[in-house]
Amino acid sequence: MERESRARNLERLRTEPLDVLLLGGGINGAGTARDLALRAHAASHPLRIGLLERGRFASGASGRNSHLIHGGLRYLKYLQLNLVREALRERAVLLRIAPHLVRPLAFLLPFEHSLDRLRYAAGLSLYGLFARGSALGRHRMLPAPEALRIEPALGLAGLRGGAEFHDCTVDAVAMVLANLEDAATHGVAIANHCQALSWRRDHDGWIVDAEDHIGGRRFAIRARKLVDATGAWMRGAGLRLVRGSHLVYPRFLQGDHAVCWFDERGRILFFLPWGRERELTLVGTTEVDHDEGPDKVAMSHAEAAYLKGAVARVFPSAGVRPVGCFSALRPLVAARSGSASAASRRHHIGNTPQGVLQISGGKFTTYRLMSEQAADQVAAEIAPPLEGIHLTAAQPLPGSNPAAGDWIAGAIDHQMAQRLEDLLFVAGCSGYERPWSRPDLEELALAMGARLGWDNRRMEDEITRIEQQICRPEPVP
Ligand SMILES: Cc1cc2nc3c(=O)[nH]c(=O)nc-3n(C[C@H](O)[C@H](O)[C@H](O)COP(=O)(O)OP(=O)(O)OC[C@H]3O[C@@H](n4cnc5c(N)ncnc54)[C@H](O)[C@@H]3O)c2cc1C
Repeated sequence: MERESRARNLERLRTEPLDVLLLGGGINGAGTARDLALRAHAASHPLRIGLLERGRFASGASGRNSHLIHGGLRYLKYLQLNLVREALRERAVLLRIAPHLVRPLAFLLPFEHSLDRLRYAAGLSLYGLFARGSALGRHRMLPAPEALRIEPALGLAGLRGGAEFHDCTVDAVAMVLANLEDAATHGVAIANHCQALSWRRDHDGWIVDAEDHIGGRRFAIRARKLVDATGAWMRGAGLRLVRGSHLVYPRFLQGDHAVCWFDERGRILFFLPWGRERELTLVGTTEVDHDEGPDKVAMSHAEAAYLKGAVARVFPSAGVRPVGCFSALRPLVAARSGSASAASRRHHIGNTPQGVLQISGGKFTTYRLMSEQAADQVAAEIAPPLEGIHLTAAQPLPGSNPAAGDWIAGAIDHQMAQRLEDLLFVAGCSGYERPWSRPDLEELALAMGARLGWDNRRMEDEITRIEQQICRPEPVP
């Protein structure tokens, strides 16, 4: 995604009628764009594809999640066995096609009741069975001293033992970028900071009114097929929005393992190694029904108190205060009744009555499969020769293209960085990991502005945007 390509892409989007336009530069929009583009390329079938992202890439749930590629141990509890089996299959696929982005992570699951030893052993045996053939399938049941040897900071008063098992962690933003980059290499016209404002149908297909938030220009895009991968922003899908929040701490885990723990109500919580040098610990997540609309997402005091309480209970001598936090919305395909934790993470891919293909629900872990299914449906409707061409389970994802040396220049030249937030949250991928001070932000704005020709006012705007939109709605409580 070269520097000049954004302007070129906007021109293409404005002037060339498309076959497919995807809305949303999260993992599902990126994955579906890549899948369609690879098929078209392999079959030498012309397919003009575009993708719009209204903000920075991965600015929705895809960049603010727990970064786990996992089967979801807890779904065994709700007997959602197919979901777990499917996710574990995808875990194996992603490890194969993106070993530079997806890494195995050892977990310790401590318990305080002897009955849990039996329950966890049974659950993990099933988990291992579903992951058959994978080296990650094995688990060990450990006595308390061994659990403490693995994680000396563990301070559960009635610790009886622990289970050791494996899942994976992903560089989530880089995974979105890798999909976008491959899509761009195969001809997809991609633009960030460009929002689809409204869309309507006529006899030739869709007309989408879009706004380029950088250039300030509005224009119309024509496309035969419209794919909505806007997550929590999806219109008319009747999704249940469930907020999940995390606290970021200076590292208090002493061992190499991540820790997961089922609280008194049976909710799972993760304590994860975090940050480039594992210098932080991430604690999350919560699950709270969210009623305020997708643009207003912030951690409540109750969520913060719950997470801090869990740290105090499991790691009573941690002795650290959170340095950051972030929240995002899970757009679930599930009824609003019942607990948010138990609500299914299954996905849905289907047309609205008007014919917009919506990709909703699911997990980051299952994005590749969801993208394949969405691409099949698009192909069946507008490019039948491409239906059933399944390439992404075998085709390695490229590495993202970071700058060797000057990361700011690299972000601008290769990742379409246009705003300060692109540097902090896409290129740096560390935006949530420290409380940015004004001098920090000014220094970055100066460096970026020097390359992009910003005047003082634009620099001030960019800093204010970060302070208002990123820091204040997510204060460290
Ligand atoms: C707290 C939390 C933790 C999670 N942890 C995990 C985990 O550890 N493992 C896992 O597998 N899954 C996890 N998930 C689920 C996972 O993050 C989501 O399933 C996945 O990221 C959804 O991706 P998406 O592309 O559908 O949506 P999003 O990532 O939300 O992307 C939608 C994009 O559409 C853009 N957009 C919106 N409106 C428009 C418009 N009009 N025009 C153009 N663009 C628009 C938005 O800006 C956004 O970037 C978690 C979710 C949450 C909330």
